[in-house]
Amino acid sequence: MRIAINDLSKVYRNGNRALQDINIQMGNGIFGLLGPNGAGKTTLMRILVTLLKPTSGSVTVNELDLRKHRREIRAMMGYLPQDFRMFAKLRTWEFLDYVASLSGLRNARERTRAVDGMLEQVGLFDVRDRPAKKLSGGMKRRLGIAQALIGDPKIVVVDEPTTGLDPGERIRFRNLLSEMSRKEIIIVLSTHIVGDISSTCNDMALVHEGRVVYNGPPGRLIDKVRGHAWAIDAVDGELEAVRERFPVISSIPSGGGWEVQVVADRIDPYPGRPLEPNLEHAYVYFMEYGLNGS
Ligand code: ADP
Repeated sequence: MRIAINDLSKVYRNGNRALQDINIQMGNGIFGLLGPNGAGKTTLMRILVTLLKPTSGSVTVNELDLRKHRREIRAMMGYLPQDFRMFAKLRTWEFLDYVASLSGLRNARERTRAVDGMLEQVGLFDVRDRPAKKLSGGMKRRLGIAQALIGDPKIVVVDEPTTGLDPGERIRFRNLLSEMSRKEIIIVLSTHIVGDISSTCNDMALVHEGRVVYNGPPGRLIDKVRGHAWAIDAVDGELEAVRERFPVISSIPSGGGWEVQVVADRIDPYPGRPLEPNLEHAYVYFMEYGLNGS
C-alpha cells in the first residue's frame, strides 16, 4: 500500500488554517504523526478517512485519487477516532459483531469466526459477554482497535489512542499495533506522546502549526540533535535560572543539586556533559527552536 499526500491544505470556515502545504508519502508499516495539541493531526486524519474535504491539494491511495474514489478508499479503511464511543447496551462481542456486519461480513458463521478471532487477538475474549461500556479504559481502546481492524482494512487510522491509558495498558496497546503492522497494511498513528512513536514507528512526520517540520525515520530526527542534548549539573538555587534559559526535559535530584537534561546548542557557563539524544530530546528541540536550530 502507498498513500501520497500532495500540497494538502485545510482552512476551516471560520478562517482557521489547520494544515498548510502538507507533503507526505506513506508505505506499509506504522507511520507516526507526532505533534502538540492543535498541530493539525486530527484534521489530517479526518481528511484521510474521507470525513472532511481538503481546501486544496490531493491524496492518492495506490493509484486512486481520494476526490474521485471516496467509496473505494473508504472500503479499505479502518478508523479509531479520538472520541470513540460504544453503543449503549451492547456486549463486547455484540458490538464487534455489529461492526463486522456493517463492514460487509454477512455470513453468520464467518462473522462469528472473525469476531472470536479478533477478540482473541486483542485480549478481550474472556470479557466478551461484558457490556462494552463497562470495560476498563484500556480494554475500550483495545475494542476500538478491534472494530477498526475487523473488516480486514488495508489502511488503519488511529487518532491519539493511548491518551489517558495507564503505563501498562499503553505498552499493551503499542505492542498490539506492532503485531498488526506485520501484515501488508499502513497504520497511521497520531499522538502527542513521544514514546508511542519511538516504540512503534519506522517512519514519522513531526507536525507543528499545520506544517510538516520533519518527515522520515525517527532515527534520523534523533541524529539531527546529536550534540544538542546535555545534562547540566546545577547546584541548589540554580535550577530556576537553568529552566528559564533552556528547554528542560527532566530534572533529577542528584547529590545536593540537580541533574538537569536540556536541549541547546551550548550550555556555558554551566558545567555538564553531552548526552546520547533520544526522540524526546529531538521533539523538544524542534518544537522549541524549529528546524534551523537555536
Ligand atoms: P490536533 O489533532 O493536532 O490537536 P486539530 O486538527 O484538532 O489538531 O486542530 C488543528 C487546528 O484547527 C487547531 O487550531 C484547531 O483549533 C482548528 N480546528 C479543528 N477543528 C476545527 C473546526 N471544526 N473548525 C474550526 N477550526 C478547527
